[in-house]
Amino acid sequence: MKKKVLKFGGTSVGSTDRIKHAAKIIKKESDLGNKIIVVVSAMAGKTNELISLSKSVSKNFSKRELDVLLSTGEQVTCALISGALNEMGIKTKSFMNWQIPILTDGENNNARIINMNVTKINNYLSSGGIAVIPGYQGISSSGDITTIGRGGSDATAVAIAKIFDTDSCEIYTDVDGIYSTDPNKIPVAKKIDKISYEEMLELSSLGAKVMQSSAVQTAMIYDIPLQVRSTFTDRQGTKIFNKDNLDYSKAVTGVAYSKDDAKITLQAVEDKPGVAAEIFEPFGKNQINIDMVIQNVSSDGKTTDITFTTKREDLVKSLEILKKNNNIKFKNLSYKNNVSKISIVGAGMVTTPGVTYKMFRALAEEKINILAISTSEIKISVIIDEVFTVQAVKKLHNIFNLD
Ligand code: ADP
Ligand code: ASP
Ligand code: MG
Repeated sequence: MKKKVLKFGGTSVGSTDRIKHAAKIIKKESDLGNKIIVVVSAMAGKTNELISLSKSVSKNFSKRELDVLLSTGEQVTCALISGALNEMGIKTKSFMNWQIPILTDGENNNARIINMNVTKINNYLSSGGIAVIPGYQGISSSGDITTIGRGGSDATAVAIAKIFDTDSCEIYTDVDGIYSTDPNKIPVAKKIDKISYEEMLELSSLGAKVMQSSAVQTAMIYDIPLQVRSTFTDRQGTKIFNKDNLDYSKAVTGVAYSKDDAKITLQAVEDKPGVAAEIFEPFGKNQINIDMVIQNVSSDGKTTDITFTTKREDLVKSLEILKKNNNIKFKNLSYKNNVSKISIVGAGMVTTPGVTYKMFRALAEEKINILAISTSEIKISVIIDEVFTVQAVKKLHNIFNLD
């Protein structure tokens, strides 16, 4: 007998028919003699709908009330899944976040799970019941309902796998695994059978929303193998696990992209020690992350240009910060928010020379200008004009033999 977490994403529970279908998968797993904890997302589109509702009431809707509102999406699914299972004669019960409880730390809208009480659920599993739990939420030490960031039901599933020490954590979604790039945008994308935590973490933090990046990070830290598979087909999914179990025949495993960056350039900044620190210090204080930074070589020894990227949603605040900063002098401030970030990811890069050159050459062949670059051991990211996104992804997918 195994203890399993089965997590169903928004599309997988997007209608009552789909909920009934998910219930059949749960029943099948239970009939095999497994103890099952089900984690569910809100029905597809529900969370966005609730956010719109809050905005139509107030532009400054309080974060506390927003969490009360958003947590209801997953609660609806819990009750419907339990109802569908009951209808099939199965013993099951939904447990709300505060009933368990799922304890969180951190601020509203962006909390993180720190612990859960296992007693009630374990007793229920031992009595032969299937526990159904809402993803994406918990309760803070002060007793307030919290949510844990968009896509957070993945993080709930991984946290449950860890805290309940389950034998597996299966992520049921609307694609049949992790692909070399988004299969809904680039149809030649290929399914990957196995991928390391490290590569998956890079892909998801660089835009592949198929897994939430903080969920992958937790899985990596605690070595919790994940399986991503389809709710709608029986095809084998993708295993995400420790890289020691993998061999790398290809330099690049996948191509990811995101459209949530903005690029800012400061022209003719005084070139002297400490200037970069003066520019970026206020960003840290204002909780704004800087991603890529490029400083041009100074031609006259007096001034230089500095380009950097931030999240697009932070652009306005970033420009304000720069304009208000009396500790720096520059001639001109320019920005561009219609940029995208294209990344190639692969653990095989470490042992394959020439990957960087090949990427840049391929983009040049497409006449795509690179606006900023950043690299790590297993990824290379570039910022380009947003209109070239699909063209760049297709080209890179092709030249790195992923089609
Ligand atoms: P769920 O609601 O099940 O959590 P998401 O919508 O969060 O599902 O994630 C699944 C989606 O991720 C897919 O429909 C697909 O369009 C997108 N996606 C982006 N990159 C990839 C990739 N590399 N492999 C698979 N899916 C991807
Ligand atoms: N319902 C939440 C969202 O849409 C959490 C999730 O689906 O994982 O972000
Ligand atoms: Mg998701």
